[in-house]
Amino acid sequence: MRTFVVTGSASGIGAATRKRLVGQGERVIGVDIRDADILADLSSAAGRREAIARVESLCGGVLDGLVPCAGLMGLPDRPGRVLAELNYYGTIEFLEAARPWLARGTNAAAVAISSNSTTTMPGLPVELTRLLLDGDPAEAIAFADKVGSPAAYPAAKLAVAHWVRRKASTAEWAGAGITLNAVAPGKTETNMLAEGRADKIFGPLIDAFPVPVGRSAHPDELAALVAFLLSKDARFICGSVIFCDGGTDAQMRPNDFPTPFPR
Ligand code: NAD
Repeated sequence: MRTFVVTGSASGIGAATRKRLVGQGERVIGVDIRDADILADLSSAAGRREAIARVESLCGGVLDGLVPCAGLMGLPDRPGRVLAELNYYGTIEFLEAARPWLARGTNAAAVAISSNSTTTMPGLPVELTRLLLDGDPAEAIAFADKVGSPAAYPAAKLAVAHWVRRKASTAEWAGAGITLNAVAPGKTETNMLAEGRADKIFGPLIDAFPVPVGRSAHPDELAALVAFLLSKDARFICGSVIFCDGGTDAQMRPNDFPTPFPR
């Protein structure tokens, strides 16, 4: 039996991932603001510290996999700082804390959750992505409030994807036997999507977004990909950001990836 940590385990993609791993006979420590082994508010620094300390004591400092999945959608009446704190710091602080535990695990892997909004939403504030990755956290959080949460969402998810790309190949991750990748979901039928649909301004835009396969995803389709990336069969996948979005990114930006090495 291997031991995994899934944040955002109470609902949607996190719940489907937890269910799939438990079905495979694995031990899963769930972290969420509700209905979880560890209850914590990951949108506050104190909540993240407390959750990380409790995970360490439950796993004994040895972990085989981590899926930091907790996140909220950007909505007009939600402050941008919530997304910087939960969707970005809630992901990378967990990854950083778990890295030494994963280094003691077996065939250890981490899968972060990005989004296809990173490449398909117009007007993404790249300055916020830069501040999250390389700036002072207080400044990044204040800037997230300034741009508002609908714009902060794709910027924070881009920062998650770039953080994964930067770290995955290093001695601390690949060199320590840990594969690190990200999944970028498209429209997936979860509570998050339902909350977005209920918003007067945002709701109609969600279903106007093109999905070439003609439907949105079931959370279990994302969980299947996450579970594969955590499995022994995926040991050669390292530093990838894998889009699972029904073809939206490919349709909107067919020639932008792969990008050739600059001359
Ligand atoms: P969801 O709402 O079903 O699940 C999110 C989970 O995060 C919930 O269990 C919720 O309780 C938890 N959570 C929210 N605030 C929290 C907090 N402050 N502290 C701790 N836990 C908290 O949504 P989902 O769609 O399954 O989202 C999972 C991840 O997938 C998110 O990171 C989201 O950004 C990403 N994503 C979702 C979609 C989509 O269309 N559903 C698309 C792209 C990316």
